[in-house]
Amino acid sequence: MKGGDTIVINIRALILVLSLTLATQVIALFVQYRVNKEYKGMGHWLTGSILMSLGFAFMTLIKAKHLYLIARIGNPLLILGYIFFYVGIKEYLGKKLNKWIPVSIFIVFNFFYYYNMYVNNSISTRSFFISVTIAIVSFMIVYELLLEKDILTSGTRSFNALVFFVYGCHYMVSAFLTFMSPPADSYSSQGLLFITPFVISILISNLWTFGLISMVNQRLNIDNQLEKEKFQSIFNTNLSAQFITKLSDGYIVDINEGFSLLSGYPKGEITGTFIQETKIWHDLEDRQILIKELNNKGICENMEFVFQRKDKSQFAGMISSRIIKINSEDHVISVIRDITERKQFEEALIESEEKYRSILNASPDDITITDLEGRILIISPAAKEMFGYELDFDNFIGMKLLDFIIPEDVERAKFNIVKMYEGSKQRPNEYRGVRQDKSIFDIEVNSGFVYNANAIPIRMVFIIRDITERKLIDLKIQELVKQLEIERNTANLNSITDSLTGLANRRHLDEILKTEFFRLTCSKSKLSLIMLDIDYFKKFNDNYGHLEGDKCLKIIATTLKTVIGRAPDIVARYGGEEFIAVLPDTDENGAKILGERIRKSVEELAIPHIASDISECVTVSVGIATVYPAELTSTEQALKLVDEALYSAKQEGRNRCVIAII
Ligand code: GH3
Ligand code: MG
Ligand code: MG
Repeated sequence: MKGGDTIVINIRALILVLSLTLATQVIALFVQYRVNKEYKGMGHWLTGSILMSLGFAFMTLIKAKHLYLIARIGNPLLILGYIFFYVGIKEYLGKKLNKWIPVSIFIVFNFFYYYNMYVNNSISTRSFFISVTIAIVSFMIVYELLLEKDILTSGTRSFNALVFFVYGCHYMVSAFLTFMSPPADSYSSQGLLFITPFVISILISNLWTFGLISMVNQRLNIDNQLEKEKFQSIFNTNLSAQFITKLSDGYIVDINEGFSLLSGYPKGEITGTFIQETKIWHDLEDRQILIKELNNKGICENMEFVFQRKDKSQFAGMISSRIIKINSEDHVISVIRDITERKQFEEALIESEEKYRSILNASPDDITITDLEGRILIISPAAKEMFGYELDFDNFIGMKLLDFIIPEDVERAKFNIVKMYEGSKQRPNEYRGVRQDKSIFDIEVNSGFVYNANAIPIRMVFIIRDITERKLIDLKIQELVKQLEIERNTANLNSITDSLTGLANRRHLDEILKTEFFRLTCSKSKLSLIMLDIDYFKKFNDNYGHLEGDKCLKIIATTLKTVIGRAPDIVARYGGEEFIAVLPDTDENGAKILGERIRKSVEELAIPHIASDISECVTVSVGIATVYPAELTSTEQALKLVDEALYSAKQEGRNRCVIAII
């Protein structure tokens, strides 16, 4: 056997030993990983160890006939595993990892490694790249470990940094020596340069496995310590009363400040005694109920019991407990809250609610109390009748008040509630309510908030009134008002018009005449008056009857309205069968034409009048007067003039026009 062969056997054995060492470390890391999964980094270190272990194991297959290809991925697996260590360290330290850094290192390594295997077959160069890569990754790990500032874990971190530094330095030297040595024709021919890395790896990998596990454990211990301190400080400073007892015998392990305050027992006096001796439980049976519950579920929440203070005063308390392990023995940690005030408040609430009920029952209006979403909490009996429900009151509870008004009114109602929130003063709002049978009726709603002690709204109150009756009365009043309006207008009209003919009456004529007289006095304009009287009208009545007489008067009035159509002109019934036309700004000529037109129009109506002495049909006599009001002293003067002209017309034979001579 040649010297070289001896080395080969030894080397393979060495690699196997290394691989097994790493496998043992895998087991160690795996156990640690199972216990402390939440510590980041453990998973990667475990994977790294597995990969490295496999890498070394594969290398032993270099001489195997069919498996030499697997051996060729041994070194890349080794490098990959080592890179996983770097990633694990980053994760453990909680640092952000730029994934491209490890990925690039691995790609670059593989490129050079396989290039120097398949293209430029050089064992030395391959060894060189393996060493350089391991050295680089080692220094990266060292850098990360030293960069971390947390002093609590600095001990184990420094140890690991030293281990990886030594490992890095070794490979640095190794790379340098490989570079300086003549090219090797086989791995084993590199001699010591080939063996030392394996020996070093066995040593160092043991150290880093130990180092990494210690690092995690140190962190774990510190975290546990912090957790314990945190628990202790929360327990001590918590204002809610807490105490810890042994589950088995009620031995009081610890109480906090809050419990001292509530129970009146100082800490020193009560810890170390048994809960049964203290009478904290007013009735020890209650404790048994709690313990039973705890044994069943491990936890119990908000159970109400009566407790007793040191001074023997009692209070209603709510207790929540859970079982915790202290030194692997079951203990009970409990929190007690004094609920005396709440109990009193609840009782007061029930009492006041009863008071409310009596108000609610007596009210003819519906009084509804809702939550802030408008869900009914309390409703008065009036609602049942108002909305036509056969339900018991309880069945209203939970229904939404807005469902009791027609959908068209809902938006407005919501808007009014928003305004109420904004604090604007609420006037009664009217909506249309919907009964159960879907019939609609009018309601008036007054609303407001119920506030708690901090002036925060907690409830809404609505007082709902059926205003159907009132609406009907309102409607009637409106109708009455309308009627009165019409009547008033008619009366107004009547006061100025003649009921038979619809022309202006005498009173109205006087008013208009006075107004016009004054206006024309100012403007120094002319005013013409035409007065007419039906001829032999007495005889007409006698012959045809009074009703026919009225008819005749109406027809003549209509004719007059047609002839005297200009805006400021006005025709009035002056007396029984006498009419007058007031024509402002009209001269003698105009008045004469109009007077004649009137006379002719009446004649052309050809209303038979056989009793007339002058014609076979109805005729009129017309007097005309044109004056300057400015020259006269009163309207009477003008009227007198026209009357005289009419008289003249009668005298001169009737059915004619006579112009007053001024
Ligand atoms: P003349 O004027 O041509 O001298 O004769 P006359 O018959 O018209 O005379 P007079 O003026 O004295 O008569 C007026 C008559 O008019 C008296 C009355 O019978 C009639 N008369 C007055 N007012 C009304 C009325 O409102 N309706 C009816 N049907 N007749 C009326
Ligand atoms: Mg007359
Ligand atoms: Mg007459």
